[in-house]
Amino acid sequence: MNGVRAKCRVCGDEALADQFKLHHDLRQMVCPSCFTGKTEQKKAKKEAVPPKPAGWDAEDDYLEKAARMRNREDVRGTFKKIPGTAQVQYTCLCSYAFKYDPFRKIPKTCPYCNQEIPRLKTFSLL
Ligand SMILES: [Zn+2]
Ligand SMILES: [Zn+2]
Repeated sequence: MNGVRAKCRVCGDEALADQFKLHHDLRQMVCPSCFTGKTEQKKAKKEAVPPKPAGWDAEDDYLEKAARMRNREDVRGTFKKIPGTAQVQYTCLCSYAFKYDPFRKIPKTCPYCNQEIPRLKTFSLL
């Protein structure tokens, strides 16, 4: 038997030369896959995969998550050192400012809006 392989000019795949057949529509010798329409089916299947939203990929997903994390970080007031004391001034998101003891963690919440005071890294004050 001859095992000569030939390259199909339609799909570029190799197949046994004696399996090539003349395709009526393509008007040339094609491999068995092309002849039976398998190549076309494969192509159709690939195109059937639902496209992702325009411009959306894994990186965007990551960036969006990172942005959300950043936003969460921003949802807090600001600490300001009060010179000469161990206390800080905390300005709450409600823009109420008050003294805060970062060592005893008092008060626990904003006396004005009752919002929790974020944890302050005390070593940054020393
Ligand atoms: Zn082919
Ligand atoms: Zn507040």
